[in-house]
Amino acid sequence: MIDVAKIRKDFPILSREVNGKPLVYLDNAATSQTPTPVIDVIVDYYSKYNANIHRGVHTLSQEATDAYEQARAKVQHHFNIAKAQEVILTSGTTHSINIVASGFTSLLEKGDELLVSAMEHHSNIVPWQMLCERTGAVLKVIPMNEQGELDMGLYRELLSDSTRLVFCNHISNALGTINPIEEIIQEAHEVGAAVLVDGAQAAPHIKADMQQLDVDFYTVSAHKICGPTGVGMLYGKEEWLGKLPPYQGGGEMIAEVTFEKTTYADLPHKFEAGTPNICGGIAFGAALDYINAIGLTNIAAYENDLLAYATAELLKIEGLKIYGTSENKTSVISFNIEGMHPYDIGSILDKLGVAVRTGHHCAQPIMDFYKIPGTVRASFSFYNTKEEVDVLVACVKRARNMLA
Ligand SMILES: *Cc1c(COP(=O)(O)O)cnc(C)c1O
Repeated sequence: MIDVAKIRKDFPILSREVNGKPLVYLDNAATSQTPTPVIDVIVDYYSKYNANIHRGVHTLSQEATDAYEQARAKVQHHFNIAKAQEVILTSGTTHSINIVASGFTSLLEKGDELLVSAMEHHSNIVPWQMLCERTGAVLKVIPMNEQGELDMGLYRELLSDSTRLVFCNHISNALGTINPIEEIIQEAHEVGAAVLVDGAQAAPHIKADMQQLDVDFYTVSAHKICGPTGVGMLYGKEEWLGKLPPYQGGGEMIAEVTFEKTTYADLPHKFEAGTPNICGGIAFGAALDYINAIGLTNIAAYENDLLAYATAELLKIEGLKIYGTSENKTSVISFNIEGMHPYDIGSILDKLGVAVRTGHHCAQPIMDFYKIPGTVRASFSFYNTKEEVDVLVACVKRARNMLA
């Protein structure tokens, strides 16, 4: 059970006003808000032990290093990762995917096939297209149906001995669909293909267990799970991370440098060139602590109630259509009202204090599939309330009347 009134006190931003109205923040799929315990960790770091890590003999550097490595251990345990060296701390999902896509350049040949799901975020499409341009590999698309679910029959038909990699999000940021990644991973492995799952949207809702999933790569952005921006995770199986060359060269990622030759550091440092987002990493760990204290199971149950309520109430509005109607979905509602532009609806909602996202949500192929320019997207977190859903619904009605 969730005590939402108590939880909301942890989020100072939720008590501000926007355009003279109480803020109703429903853009959680773009970024989540930050609770005081995480803000405190950030202030504490810069007030007390800001220093560069890993190479200092002085006390501050050791304290910062310890806190950063503790954060890595928290990430490791949260995702049930076998070894700390399989946790690469990155700047977020986009960075994580680019590390893998870049690394596969030397592992692919012309004619190799990569399968991408039809409902990916651009950050899980474009790096692979760039990889295909470099290598002559071919990108094929796993189609989806009207409900916004992947066609698993066609997925099986696409899989072949030529398939090297499959990438798919765990949860779609534009539709909320929870994809059957267990099946996707298992079937890909049967033809010897590796799988990268983009977990950016799943981390705030689902506890993903890396060992149980047996996934090859998994990516997370801390800012979607109550942490700061500019930090995230790349999980990779040790055997894969060992095979991939480093993404960036620089400090921290080397064992020995001469002008003739450089040898690389062991994992995870091989993929962590330069001074990382030290404070962000530590705050990422604190965000996981915060989420785990509430419990992802409690969070999911509460958000599912909000989703059901909001869906039912919104569907009462004439001409409103929801995109992404899988039974298996999280608290994201993408919708349009017949004859109205999503941007106009979003602008009116903002005047009324309600923050939603409008547009293609970095997933233009989904919009092309539905033949629409974009949607209005309301995405709910565990700190949102039924009363806020009521405000959303009332404001959407008002926008509809104004635009009609
Ligand atoms: C937010 C998001 C991304 C991109 O994450 P960044 O933090 O911007 O790198 C990728 N995929 C999905 C599904 C997302 O929701």
